[in-house]
Amino acid sequence: MRTCMVLHVLLLGLVNLAKTSATPAVKVSPGLETPKDVVVVGGGLAGMAAARKLSNSPDKFSVKVLEARKERYGGRVYTKREYGVRGVDGDLGSSFLNSGVPNNPLLELTKTLEIAVESTGSLQLHAPGLNKVYTAEETKHIFSELLTVVQMAVEKAKRNGNDRPLPEAIKEELPLFKTDVDKTVLAGLLSSHYVLSDKDSSTYMFNPKKDFGWDKVVVDGFDQIIDGIVSGIDAEFPIVIELQAIVRQITFDKKTNKYKIRTFDRQQHEADIVIVAVPLGILRKGEIVFGEPQKNSSSSVANMPQKWHDTVRNKLGISYSNKVLVEFDEAFWPTDVGVFTRPAESEEEAGLLQTWFNLHQLVNKPILMGSIVGPIAKTFESWSDDEVKVKGRELFYILT
Ligand SMILES: Cc1cc2nc3c(=O)[nH]c(=O)nc-3n(C[C@H](O)[C@H](O)[C@H](O)COP(=O)(O)OP(=O)(O)OC[C@H]3O[C@@H](n4cnc5c(N)ncnc54)[C@H](O)[C@@H]3O)c2cc1C
Repeated sequence: MRTCMVLHVLLLGLVNLAKTSATPAVKVSPGLETPKDVVVVGGGLAGMAAARKLSNSPDKFSVKVLEARKERYGGRVYTKREYGVRGVDGDLGSSFLNSGVPNNPLLELTKTLEIAVESTGSLQLHAPGLNKVYTAEETKHIFSELLTVVQMAVEKAKRNGNDRPLPEAIKEELPLFKTDVDKTVLAGLLSSHYVLSDKDSSTYMFNPKKDFGWDKVVVDGFDQIIDGIVSGIDAEFPIVIELQAIVRQITFDKKTNKYKIRTFDRQQHEADIVIVAVPLGILRKGEIVFGEPQKNSSSSVANMPQKWHDTVRNKLGISYSNKVLVEFDEAFWPTDVGVFTRPAESEEEAGLLQTWFNLHQLVNKPILMGSIVGPIAKTFESWSDDEVKVKGRELFYILT
């Protein structure tokens, strides 16, 4: 009998989506004669990348990262090594890289740091409703057609000067699209990728070449990338990080011309420049107060400068991504296939474990990593391990 064990369910969720482009808020004071004190709030990939860039100019910037967690930095990059022989089977957050992004800086970094990156392997598409398993070549063709129709939708929106939710634009384009591929398959694949299915995805901002792909995996753990950024390469200085520093308030003191950054435990830090690199959800919930709290304000984000407020509230969106790793007694699937995927056949299962990554070929253990995207990734967090096992087995068996 095939039994399986749920290794862990990632509960990190949240992926920020660009409704429009946005960069972390940076206020740079004029004049750079002496090193400016910089505080970076949030020790995830974004915060660390900013800290690294500035730390590399020690004559100009003196940088410190304040990170809320007490035991680690990295945010949604988190390799839990107790599970892994190599690392990827302990990656609770990010694990894949897209080589379709021109000069992908993370891929470049893996080369510099000599971090092993391997191909996720061939993709196999199953359409249970059509009782069909497509060959690798056919699957490649289907995905190429999918990205063609997406590109057409993007171009049309741009021509019409009408940015709109990406899934809406694709669904409108699909009936007009001439293709030899079954359109129910194309429609059912949209929900397998959070960007293609999320109502907050911008049609204008989407670039099928850059924004769709997971063809490389960091087999020994994604945390090597963030550790490399933190420790620095060659003569670079390590980044200074303060853990357990939950930032609650950022004010500007006009007398000293400095920012004051207060943490939950009432510590105070001063800086000339503050970079805020926390998840959008934290800002929306008003967990960091900008300026002095205002009386009678119904929203704690109201303290933000108006421009940021608009960006946080209206211009950026949030999507959800989750994953589950399941270890079986033995690999009962074709182990030479890298990724199994299928179109969703009902609204109910849209985004739920449509794509499974075969880790057997990478870590030589019978482990599958299932991906859950879109709204269901949020509700999925309340599932028990037993529910995950049952549903996971059911949905994966459909593929085999
Ligand atoms: C399940 C899952 C799988 C993913 N897979 C991939 C993948 O394969 N490839 C890929 O490229 N991307 C992937 N992503 C996305 C990627 O992990 C994130 O985009 C990226 O790690 C986000 O980095 P960040 O620095 O913006 O935010 P975060 O990593 O969230 O970092 C923000 C940091 O801010 C800290 N913080 C929050 N509030 C405060 C406060 N008040 N004071 C101080 N610090 C605070 C947090 O503790 C955290 O460390 C995945 C995400 C998830 C959830």
